[in-house]
Amino acid sequence: MPSPRYWREIPARYRLEGGRCPACGKVTYPTRRVCPECRHEGMEAIALSRHGRVVTFTTIHVAPTEFQMEAPYPMAVVETPEGARLMVQVADCAPDDVKLGLEVALEFRRIQREGRSGILCYGHKAVPAR
Ligand SMILES: [Zn+2]
Repeated sequence: MPSPRYWREIPARYRLEGGRCPACGKVTYPTRRVCPECRHEGMEAIALSRHGRVVTFTTIHVAPTEFQMEAPYPMAVVETPEGARLMVQVADCAPDDVKLGLEVALEFRRIQREGRSGILCYGHKAVPAR
């Protein structure tokens, strides 16, 4: 089951809302209570762009049980223009099509269905920009 933190963060995740530190400008996603860069308390909410660039990526061959049907699939760290970094699955393309600097759009999609309870988990996936 997703953790209580997962449920608490749903609204911010849905809006792709990050946090910006008013002291040093560090941007995180999701937001944090304390800036990971300078330890300043109280980050400001900012809406992140729904696109970015791949800064690093890998291909998952041995996936967790709930994603086995999808393996192999590419996972990437995407950086938005604001500087937030998100770890997301890259959808709608072959693992070989993912490259450093690839422009992607961040789309809100179903991530997984929770076993017997049938609860659907949604989140963002990256798809190559057209
Ligand atoms: Zn800071």
